[in-house]
Amino acid sequence: MLILTRRPALIVALSVALAGTVLAICVSVLIQMRQDAAQRAQDAATNLLLLVERDTARNLEIYALSLQAVIDGLRQPGLDKLPPAIRQAVLFDGSAMATHLGSILVVDAQGNVIYDSRAEPPRKLNVADRDYFRVQRDTPDAGLYVSHPFIPRLSGKSPSIALSRRLSNPDGSFAGVVAGTLRLDYFHSLFDGMKLGPHGSMALMLADGTMLMRRPYDPNIIGRSLLNTSNYTRFTQAPSGSFYGTAAIDGVERWYAFSHVARFPLIYDVALSTDDMYANWRRRAWVFGTIVAVLDVLIIWFAMLFSQQMRRRTAVEAELRMLARTDGLTSLGNRRALDEVGAKEWRLARRGGQPLSVLLIDVDHFKGFNDLYGHAAGDDALTAVAHCIKNGLRRPADHAARYGGEEFVVLLPATDIAGARLVAESMRESVQSLGMRHVASTHQVLTVSIGVASTEARRFADLRALIDAADAALYAAKAEGRNRTMLDGAAECGAADREPAPAASPAKSDANPS
Ligand code: GH3
Ligand code: MG
Ligand code: MG
Repeated sequence: MLILTRRPALIVALSVALAGTVLAICVSVLIQMRQDAAQRAQDAATNLLLLVERDTARNLEIYALSLQAVIDGLRQPGLDKLPPAIRQAVLFDGSAMATHLGSILVVDAQGNVIYDSRAEPPRKLNVADRDYFRVQRDTPDAGLYVSHPFIPRLSGKSPSIALSRRLSNPDGSFAGVVAGTLRLDYFHSLFDGMKLGPHGSMALMLADGTMLMRRPYDPNIIGRSLLNTSNYTRFTQAPSGSFYGTAAIDGVERWYAFSHVARFPLIYDVALSTDDMYANWRRRAWVFGTIVAVLDVLIIWFAMLFSQQMRRRTAVEAELRMLARTDGLTSLGNRRALDEVGAKEWRLARRGGQPLSVLLIDVDHFKGFNDLYGHAAGDDALTAVAHCIKNGLRRPADHAARYGGEEFVVLLPATDIAGARLVAESMRESVQSLGMRHVASTHQVLTVSIGVASTEARRFADLRALIDAADAALYAAKAEGRNRTMLDGAAECGAADREPAPAASPAKSDANPS
């Protein structure tokens, strides 16, 4: 936690990582949900397909058996001598008479209907032009044939297909056909009951691609050939399967499941529109995605706010720390800063064996300056003196502080007493050369006196003792006439003029150029 409060950028980085993780989880869940939605829909469609395919296969099987029963009936000796009603019963009793089934017809080699399951005597009709007749006539081994759709001439209503079987004479020559018709309405109502979604489709076609029934229903589609369409091509490539494709009929993209009807030349397909398949998922994904997006934005936003606060606090703390160690008037370090830096430099000096020197600087006759020019001018003078002291520092480790009132301390690490003296002199001279009029001073301008002490010269018990030594030197400098630098335990070294014995009167000093 501490590392977070120290590094606000880390908070934002972590929040972005968190938001990214949440987003990644959301995306993976949505992908999973999408796959599940597709899987569920496809499973349902596949089951449906299986159901209709089996149902159709069974019904056609039964119908084919009915045709076989008629053929068997025709073989009964003396059939044409039976009374018509009994003959009808013998021929057609075994045949299923479900609503969608049309008539079962027995047709002679010329195409004329000779027996009719729905009428006795048979309705007058020739079917020689129908494919279910022609194919059986022309192809002896056609077996059970499923015809193309046609409009029956007898009822003339709904389109139908016919199943036909060949009748052969004992010598194998063509004797006619038995044909049963089946109304395509049967498939229409079968398809209508299925739940395929608003844009789903379902179709039954002949193996040659002729459309028999399709949902959505359009009467014009019946009999249309799908040959050469890409979907039909795929239907022919396997007994069953699935794929994504676009319908040639309406251009809708769908997922197709198809299956060939067992033992019959028929193909079923059930197709779900991809739009329908993902409709529910899309709605949920929107809600879920929006919530996660808002959450992510909030996470990052809060983290940014938090890190901004953190940054402000850190800046304020640094500012306060700095202010707590700075003198408000002169911007030099204050007593607290001096204590900290002094303790550190003292330790370093002792450990490293390097000399540590101290300057104690005091403004001369400053009480008089205040009295004469006012306290505000006194403050300005102190600031100017501080400026001279700061400018006199030569090394980064040199440190100046306001010691109190009009006194300043300068710490000079790794500096011997000769170096310290040079620094002191340059500061003293630079204050003098400010030329600030001070008529109450014997020097007529504002000056400072400096006491210098160094661990190079002798041993000190602690920093306090070192500063006291500098103070003693300062005291000596004052006694010697001020505006000078005195070394600890040594004679004056500053290049100051001797102070005249009596203090100069302000009127007299004014005449003295400074
Ligand atoms: P000496 O040459 O012996 O040092 O004489 P002095 O007048 O400088 O010594 P003294 O200690 O008697 O006077 C110091 C004066 O400094 C007293 C006080 O009015 C003034 N002083 C201390 N701090 C400030 C300050 O922050 N601003 C102003 N304007 N004056 C200050
Ligand atoms: Mg003083
Ligand atoms: Mg003073």
